Amino acid sequence: MSSAEPIKVAIIGGGLAGATLANAILKHDHLDVNIFESASEFSERGAAVSLAANAQAALAEIGGEVADVVERAGGVVMSSSRLCMGSGPDAMSIVFDLGAEMRGKVVHRAALLAELLKPIEDKKKHTNRKVISINDSAKGQVEINFEDGTVFHADAVVGADGVRGYVRCHVLGKDHPAVPAKVAGFWDARSLIPMQKAKALLGEEYFEIDRQYGWIGEGGFIMHDVLDGGDTVQCVVCGIVGEGDEWAEGEWSKPLDRAALEKALEEWTDTPLKKGIVEAMLQNPDLKAFAETHHAIDAPTYANGRTCIIGDAAHSMTPWQGSGAGQAIEDAMILQTLLEKIKSPDQVAMAFQTYSEVRKPRTQRIIHSSCGTGVILCGRGADVGLDAAKIKEVLPGRWAFIHRQNQGEHKEEALEVLAKLLIAHPLP
Ligand SMILES: Cc1cc2nc3c(=O)[nH]c(=O)nc-3n(C[C@H](O)[C@H](O)[C@H](O)COP(=O)(O)OP(=O)(O)OC[C@H]3O[C@@H](n4cnc5c(N)ncnc54)[C@H](O)[C@@H]3O)c2cc1C
Repeated sequence: MSSAEPIKVAIIGGGLAGATLANAILKHDHLDVNIFESASEFSERGAAVSLAANAQAALAEIGGEVADVVERAGGVVMSSSRLCMGSGPDAMSIVFDLGAEMRGKVVHRAALLAELLKPIEDKKKHTNRKVISINDSAKGQVEINFEDGTVFHADAVVGADGVRGYVRCHVLGKDHPAVPAKVAGFWDARSLIPMQKAKALLGEEYFEIDRQYGWIGEGGFIMHDVLDGGDTVQCVVCGIVGEGDEWAEGEWSKPLDRAALEKALEEWTDTPLKKGIVEAMLQNPDLKAFAETHHAIDAPTYANGRTCIIGDAAHSMTPWQGSGAGQAIEDAMILQTLLEKIKSPDQVAMAFQTYSEVRKPRTQRIIHSSCGTGVILCGRGADVGLDAAKIKEVLPGRWAFIHRQNQGEHKEEALEVLAKLLIAHPLP
């Protein structure tokens, strides 16, 4: 027996994960989707996000409105990327230029979010709705309670509420050690400066073509790339937490001054680039170092009955392998595949159990790989250090399993697991 009424799906959180899923399942008449965002508007902070081959393949598999959403949002193939050494015996040498597969497409975050949300009816998009508790009700539905006192009942709840959201607590139990994200051991800071200023500070030679540069050095990493069609240069400095600076428990950001920057780059080879990047960073009058966090402890599950978690709520990772948004898109692809197959609210828990089983190994592997990649990019890889030849040997393979994912096979794997569950638990 299948349900005559559509299955009511509530998505909590209107970031890239929630918006991708909402858009992906919109085409299924047996699913009725509402999306709830705690902020007063749907918005994305930060400039651009890069989506590698695996993310683009997942968008293509979702199909429909989503297939070319990156292009409609103005996404372009990422400019050339070059990895170099900033200190050690090979200082100022090139390690390698990244292949097209690793570069992917780069798109403005706000434009992508707006495109994803566009086809969803206004009455289904809710802002100022912060979830504060979730209860499984006797009727089988899930009761969602909001801070403003309102309540919504859904057949299926998807927590896409980010790294500091609520739904992870509900799925794992609030005292589970895997609930909080932990400091990953790195900090990063950003400064946006006009192109002319960047040329003067860093050197004209880095801007002859539109190229992203990464610099590996002792205990840190520097990156600079060109944004806004060539008008702006983004400069990033990353360091290791606890070396020359102490972070108090629960401290996520702190001001970064000249002394702290110079301390972070103390062991780097003295070059015009090193001096220039310090000045470039100090152009930001509100310069702050942000502690990078991640879900260091593997969650035992991403699902609990009729509630599941996706995106950063499920598997927050450090940005070293640029994969968080890509994994959120893969989550949406798998959930859409599974929700398409179910016909009754009584099958929601089986779809979510399948999603968890299929997505956990890959996403948790990337959490740990990303952190390990950060160690190498900060010049601290075991048996690698600042040896450019060894770095060239070990780095590319770290992305291969992420980018070369066969998304069609991933969907098939999920469908096989779900089919077994549906046969084992037939509807009355
Ligand atoms: C510096 C940096 C660079 C990155 N670069 C890349 C990259 O190049 N490529 C890539 O693939 N990934 C990248 N990532 C990762 C990527 O940005 C994230 O993984 C992705 O944006 C997560 O999306 P999300 O929707 O899961 O979470 P979020 O974007 O955090 O969205 C969660 C939403 O839920 C809302 N919310 C929170 N709590 C509640 C509640 N209780 N009730 C209702 N709503 C709630 C929030 O307001 C928010 O809108 C980067 C990350 C960082 C930090």
